[in-house]
Amino acid sequence: MKYALVEIFESLQGEGRNMGRPCVFIRFAGCNLSCPWCDTDVRERFSLGLEDILAELRRFKSRSVILTGGEPTVAEGMPELVAALKREGFWVAVETNGTSNAPWLSFVDYVACSPKAEYPDSLRLGFADEVRVVASSESVAYFCRRVRQTVSATDYYISPCERDGNMDFATAKAVLGKLDGWSLSVQLHKLLGFR
Ligand code: SF4
Repeated sequence: MKYALVEIFESLQGEGRNMGRPCVFIRFAGCNLSCPWCDTDVRERFSLGLEDILAELRRFKSRSVILTGGEPTVAEGMPELVAALKREGFWVAVETNGTSNAPWLSFVDYVACSPKAEYPDSLRLGFADEVRVVASSESVAYFCRRVRQTVSATDYYISPCERDGNMDFATAKAVLGKLDGWSLSVQLHKLLGFR
């Protein structure tokens, strides 16, 4: 089987607890949500088999891999890919919108869950290492309280929403003002202009 992909590239993690960590990003095509402010192109650009992905990863220096999208939990063959990455000795993280509680998520080293307030009933994941919610409006604070009851995590972050190239810090700050135990996570890659 082949994995539908958008891109594979090496960069620094731009947000959350692992901000600044050099990683190889594998961006999978496709998503099961359609967030109104989404700026990620999730169309398939190419497809690779498992061995071809491993060969591609050997071109990079980093031994840390982030599986992202789109939404990686909608891709087929993820248990096999995660098992192969672990066999190769990679630190493996996943970025998910939390709409799946697929068993393979228990076998990665780090789960970053980013549930969407626009789809409040879609959350299925009950655990994560970190949770990041985009502050698309001040009312997101109500959703965050619900997320906190549903997803057990170590860190809970609010991310500013980006619209038309502008980062909305004011709404993020207002949301944080309504919550306890949540912190700001800036998207460093957008602020500094790296991928
Ligand atoms: S879940 Fe992520 S990739 Fe999917 S539409 Fe929303 S922001 Fe875009």
